[in-house]
Amino acid sequence: MKDCIFCKIVRNEIPSYTIYEDDVVKAFLDISQGTPGHTLVIPKKHIANIFEYDPELAAAVFSRIPKIARAIKASNPEIKGMNIVNNNGQIAYQSVFHSHFHLVPRYTTHDDFAMIFKDNSNKYTPDDLKKIQTTIMAHIGD
Ligand code: 5GP
Ligand code: ZN
Repeated sequence: MKDCIFCKIVRNEIPSYTIYEDDVVKAFLDISQGTPGHTLVIPKKHIANIFEYDPELAAAVFSRIPKIARAIKASNPEIKGMNIVNNNGQIAYQSVFHSHFHLVPRYTTHDDFAMIFKDNSNKYTPDDLKKIQTTIMAHIGD
């Protein structure tokens, strides 16, 4: 994609601090460095979001993530854990529309990354959950 910022990074038209690349993925430091070592893993092929992966590309991309995550963790003994985040769509905070996975090393409970899952479990009956389950299941394809 001509005007995609991450495609330009793949083609080395925009410089990046690349930590790993092969024929399928490129992993480079996120310019924002939400926490030190914050890395993006992207497929070299331009696809916008998770909804556009075929099983082969999904398997190929995800198969690279654990070794990249391990290398980041091994780079600093202060790293205690890691959030892997993938935003899809503007509503879900996606700002660059070339699919990417954020690897965010975690140092302390009060470092610069936070995520909130509200607990709404008391608002759902078993029937409500069954309806959601069957509706989603009806749409499972490849
Ligand atoms: P999103 O908000 O789409 O999930 O994440 C996009 C990420 O891309 C942001 O965290 C942002 O800091 C990062 N980013 C945007 N432009 C560039 C760039 O030119 N170089 C690098 N390395 N990261 C970028
Ligand atoms: Zn792209």
